[in-house]
Amino acid sequence: MEPRDREPASSQDKRPLEEDSDDPDLQDQSEVEDLLEIASEAPTDTSWPGEVDEAELDGEILIEEPKPRPKKKKSLDAAALAARRVCKRLRQERKAARKAKRKAEAKAKKRRGFGADLEAFLEKTRERLETKAVEAEALAAAALMAEAEVGSRPNPKDRLGLEPPRSGVDLRGFVAKTRERLAARSELERATEEAQRAKAAALAANVDLESFRKECQARIAQRLLAKMPQIRGSERDAGNINWACITRRRIAIVGAGPVGLWAAMLLAQKYRWTDGTGCARLRPDAPEVVLFEARSMENHCTRTDIRIALSSSTRAMLDQQTKSRSFTSGMPVAEIEDTFLRRWKKVAGQEARIGYGSEISDPAELCQSGQFDCILWAAGRRSLDDPLRKDLGCEVKIGDSQRVVVFQVQDLQGADAWQLGSMDLSGAAQQAGRFPGLRVMLRPGFEGACACWLWVFGLSSEVLESFVLKGASSTPRETLAEAFEDLVGATSQALKPALEALQQRVRASGVTCRFVEASYWSADHAVCQLSVGDQLVPFILLGDALGGKPFYTGSTLNRHLWDVATLIDEVEFAYDGGPLDAARFAMYERRYMECLRRIPEFQRPRSIILQALPKPMPVPRQRVDEIPPCEAKTLSLPAIPFGRPLM
Ligand SMILES: Cc1cc2nc3c(=O)[nH]c(=O)nc-3n(C[C@H](O)[C@H](O)[C@H](O)COP(=O)(O)OP(=O)(O)OC[C@H]3O[C@@H](n4cnc5c(N)ncnc54)[C@H](O)[C@@H]3O)c2cc1C
Repeated sequence: MEPRDREPASSQDKRPLEEDSDDPDLQDQSEVEDLLEIASEAPTDTSWPGEVDEAELDGEILIEEPKPRPKKKKSLDAAALAARRVCKRLRQERKAARKAKRKAEAKAKKRRGFGADLEAFLEKTRERLETKAVEAEALAAAALMAEAEVGSRPNPKDRLGLEPPRSGVDLRGFVAKTRERLAARSELERATEEAQRAKAAALAANVDLESFRKECQARIAQRLLAKMPQIRGSERDAGNINWACITRRRIAIVGAGPVGLWAAMLLAQKYRWTDGTGCARLRPDAPEVVLFEARSMENHCTRTDIRIALSSSTRAMLDQQTKSRSFTSGMPVAEIEDTFLRRWKKVAGQEARIGYGSEISDPAELCQSGQFDCILWAAGRRSLDDPLRKDLGCEVKIGDSQRVVVFQVQDLQGADAWQLGSMDLSGAAQQAGRFPGLRVMLRPGFEGACACWLWVFGLSSEVLESFVLKGASSTPRETLAEAFEDLVGATSQALKPALEALQQRVRASGVTCRFVEASYWSADHAVCQLSVGDQLVPFILLGDALGGKPFYTGSTLNRHLWDVATLIDEVEFAYDGGPLDAARFAMYERRYMECLRRIPEFQRPRSIILQALPKPMPVPRQRVDEIPPCEAKTLSLPAIPFGRPLM
């Protein structure tokens, strides 16, 4: 056997190897370290991508076949197995050590309480008491020494074996010495008593220190809280804060589609904290969110027919925010909604409530009846009628638009929809049909009823105009061309060669088809105001209610999710003493305008956008119970005193 050039650093380092493996080759610590390094490079969590990738969201996002999560290869090699065991053990030990350290730090932090002031004060008190005790002990020792000194002086009576002096001078000396001795003794007793008292006081102070610290902490917390604008005026002077009296803003979210649920979930996450008892929950001043949804509870989260292409950065963001790894490109809307809903319920607990079956038609009325401070409107593209949009200043403009032939295919005769979806189907159709701009996209369907959707678009207006609608294609046909003929009759000939080429590739059967208008659409403004009584309440458009791109681009929802994440992050929704007015959403409006300017297909020329920039919003009157801010705008609540209920 080759001599080793490196020995394990210490017996401690070697321990796990000795326990787990008797293979001498593996006892080289450096080898294990190499293995550990490789193991630590393996991705453990998705990272927050941070920046919005505008180019990606402005363009098209294609669907991807979900990749099965890589399974760990099972190795039969004994050495490799042993090495893995060693790595695992070392990792576990490191993890346990880290955990113990964190726990100790947390405990120390908890003990430290509110900060250096209190800590320093306690330290000084302890020092003072200890110094006092030491002084008293020193006094006692001095007295003892004095007594010893007096006692050690030769007694003339003892020395000479004589009676106590009888002469007047000797007697006076004797009395004086006796007095001296007695004084020294009483001084000693007094000093000893004092030392005992000081010791007892120091001991008692130590015992009481913890409860004293807690009382101080609670007092400071109450005092800080009483100064915060969230606490209503009448409660400020009271010694104890009534948590139910904290002012909370009320936010209505209309529409529990993916965007509405995402907004509700992010709001709850933003205002989550760990209270004094170590329990994660909503902050006492977190805004109250009420979600309204037109669909019934049974019909919610059931849209399995729409599959969404999600870019890798969007997936990473969603995984990170929902603390899951469930997002894949091409997942149905229903699953996205369900994941958001579950996470929201987990974070907000009892407060995650949806008013199912509530179709909101008048946002101002909703605002008045629910006393909401803000409405986030995420009810989809056609949820507001035109006159109302006009009144609010968020009329929709249709930009570039084109007709798409949508084929619904029941069966692919053995072919795999995911594989076909990742293939280039446009090339063959372009060549056969001699339409250079023709594009074909295939989206996997859903179990049972639909194997896939096939979108054919990019046809010139002349070709599209040549089609004359004959009737509905509702009876499933054996080929794409037959189904299209049902729709436009003999005028389908222009597209026939392209459809036949496609048929060869996808081998579709059970086909129906229809025309769908796919367009860019955009509201005039993202931030509007509702006039409710004498107040102006922000009315914020989110998701498809604000704008979007043709469905085949696959990026509409991706962009909405990023936009909403930034909005929730940048705006303070908790009560901070000032009014929640439309001006707070200015950045959201600005980014929206910038997006319209950047993408020409929205057909919003720059000059029009500049004209449309919102005029300075009138400042709404303050509520009577609103007290002007007395603290900085960014507030953070102190920890709640131990054991105190939040509400
Ligand atoms: C076929 C197709 C494919 C698509 N593919 C992709 C893709 O691959 N990638 C991508 O990024 N995007 C894609 N999209 C776009 C994406 O589906 C939408 O952008 C997304 O669904 C918008 O979500 P939303 O929550 O804003 O609106 P919606 O999904 O429309 O949800 C609105 C919700 O509000 C409710 N509601 C409506 N009116 C009211 C009311 N008055 N009161 C109360 N509640 C109300 C509705 O019931 C619904 O639950 C596709 C769209 C389609 C049609």
